[in-house]
Amino acid sequence: MSAIVLATRNEGKIAELRRILGGIDVVGLDAFPGAPDVAETELTFEGNALLKARAIAAHTGLPAVADDSGLCVDALNGMPGVLSARWSGRFGDACPDKDAANLRLVLDQLGDVPEGRRGGSFVCAAVLVVPGGVEHCVEGRMRGTVLREPRGDGGFGYDPIFLPDGESRTTAEMPAADKDAISHRGRAFRALAALLPDALAAAGLS
Ligand code: IMP
Repeated sequence: MSAIVLATRNEGKIAELRRILGGIDVVGLDAFPGAPDVAETELTFEGNALLKARAIAAHTGLPAVADDSGLCVDALNGMPGVLSARWSGRFGDACPDKDAANLRLVLDQLGDVPEGRRGGSFVCAAVLVVPGGVEHCVEGRMRGTVLREPRGDGGFGYDPIFLPDGESRTTAEMPAADKDAISHRGRAFRALAALLPDALAAAGLS
């Protein structure tokens, strides 16, 4: 069976997709040093994921998976949304304080918002582009509440302030496997995995 390229250099995401896809060979962008860095210029998660997957499928000639995700807060009309990674401004990817600054800005913006109106969702669009074949786009969501103060040391990004519905732990307090089971990305990747065998077979790649 053909390898799948995941359009990211994030080792955590590569490991997560490998766990979900079981036997399938998943490689990241580090295996393709000349691969383009695709700017996320679209206004939707789906649009950004499509940009990345199309560019990487064209560059590698392999089936490509890409995702784009973020936190959509009801009281902020769905923002930070696609701007989640750079909500408090543009930082280099290696900036250690980027996540903390983004999270603090959301907490400040919600300072006056009472309990009961602090709902939001993590959203992930995951896209599969098979060269000479189909394009599939799926979405996963995790609904929850934005807390008033961070809790927990795990995860990344906005995890310390996000309490999923029906949970007593923030996503930063959950072991990775527990978060994967309910997370936006876990849901989207599992939905895409279910479509993969037929998509590859249709392109003669299985
Ligand atoms: P990307 O999909 O890797 O571009 O993620 C965009 C941004 O959304 C991240 O930098 C985080 O700020 C936020 N984000 C996406 N998924 C999660 C999550 O599972 N936990 C916490 N923050 C997340």
